[in-house]
Parts: sequence; structure tokens; C-alpha cells
Amino acid sequence: MKKKLSTAPLQVEYICPKCGKHLAWALPIVSMSCPQCGKWVTNENRAKVATEVYIPMDSDQVVLFNLEEN
Ligand SMILES: [Zn+2]
Repeated sequence: MKKKLSTAPLQVEYICPKCGKHLAWALPIVSMSCPQCGKWVTNENRAKVATEVYIPMDSDQVVLFNLEEN
């Protein structure tokens, strides 16, 4: 009997810490070189960008901006 995987591997956003270029979404084990400046970007040194959250003062509406690419 085979088990089905119910969760997809968690990918992280790779952003060059040197020039800020968005590279790709990838698994944290991945290393990649920035095509713009040549820096190697790993899970340890990638620039982290917090998800921006805007909550208008005059509204109950919460708008989330996610940069997910599927
Ligand atoms: Zn770069």
C-alpha cells in the first residue's frame, strides 16, 4: 500500500542579497547564482522580504499582497 504525499515541499523566495533581484521560488536546499551580479544565493544569505500587509484605517478590508508564483 502506497502512501500519498499530502503536503507539497515548502518553497522559499530567492532574492539576491547583493542587488535585490528576484530569482525564483525554490526549495531551501537550492543554491543559485544571480544572473545579474553573479552572486551565489542560498537559503542562508537570500534577502528576505516580508509579505506586505495593508490595513486601511477606514475599512475592515485587509489586503494581502503575496508574491506567490505557481
Ligand atoms: Zn544579484
